[in-house]
Amino acid sequence: MKRLIPVFAIVVLVLAALAYRPPVPAVSAQSRQPAGTSHSGKAFRFNKVRDGVYHAVGTGSLAVVGNSAFIVNDNDVIVVDDHVSPAAAWVLLEEIKEVTDKPVTTVINTHFHFDHAHGNQIFGPGVQIIGHEFTRRMLLSNSIGMPLYQGYINGMPGQIEGLRKRIAAEADPAAKAKLQTQLQITENNFASQKELKPTPPNVTLSSQMTLYRGSREIQIRFLGRGHTAGDVVVFLPNEKVVITGDFLTAGLSNMSDSYPEEWVASLDALKRLDFDTVLPGHGDAFTDRTKIDHFQAYLRDVWTEVSRLKRQGVPAEEAAKRADLTKHKANLPIQGPGVPPLAATRIYDLIDSAGK
Ligand SMILES: [Zn+2]
Repeated sequence: MKRLIPVFAIVVLVLAALAYRPPVPAVSAQSRQPAGTSHSGKAFRFNKVRDGVYHAVGTGSLAVVGNSAFIVNDNDVIVVDDHVSPAAAWVLLEEIKEVTDKPVTTVINTHFHFDHAHGNQIFGPGVQIIGHEFTRRMLLSNSIGMPLYQGYINGMPGQIEGLRKRIAAEADPAAKAKLQTQLQITENNFASQKELKPTPPNVTLSSQMTLYRGSREIQIRFLGRGHTAGDVVVFLPNEKVVITGDFLTAGLSNMSDSYPEEWVASLDALKRLDFDTVLPGHGDAFTDRTKIDHFQAYLRDVWTEVSRLKRQGVPAEEAAKRADLTKHKANLPIQGPGVPPLAATRIYDLIDSAGK
């Protein structure tokens, strides 16, 4: 008996150690406030689309760029995308606190682009950041060296300089004040970008993952390459809501890292989901599913038009000016001929690499 007591005590201790789980931190963000968070009024408009499901769209008082969405569950909050900077994500969390005191336990990155994933670093180690394997790879390697972000960040000092000059030259006090606000917003964004540490997802998926929160089901789905090689959409089957990032926006989507031909097929896969409301990464929420057809038609034609110019020997920069997609004017925000230069160079690169 005497010999059994220490063994029994050890077994109890081992079981207690195995059962111990560190408490989930109540505060999910890091404690230090990032630079560049100051702004006046609300930074976000939270559009409630279902009970507990919100689409967060910037008001313009802080540079946030992309939209996010958040889902308030029984015990926690899930955030989808976290904007352009640590500052923007920080302010998002501050404003979410006005809706709920439940902790943010989970962040989903729809893709790696700066305007959707550059807030990742403010979340503490207890927060799961979920994204496609490709998203992790990009944020771990060279996402900020890509032309899209380089163009964005390198343009900022010039924008600040330009605004300063316009402020100095402006006589009208109201116009001057407006420019000053713009300058402040740009300077804050620049200050926050300087603190940027691209932070990859710490949980990845390659095709599909489902989170369950009480009766709520949150599906994270990769539907094929499109806007990037690793976009996921967040689909709430009970609520018939899909959060699409830039895989499908309210207007045109950036094409700098895209696979336009495959994107059309991937959008077909999206159409097979049973939803009636789309929360896009840019623009307001919408219910009109024909927007998907319009965007698919545009993608097909961009490819045809730009590759036709390439076959004629037109340089990519010139093709970007000449490519005529104006027949899509009625359905998409198109003013005149031309496509973004990064769209044309991307298509040229894809054709060249396919030929190798
Ligand atoms: Zn994007």
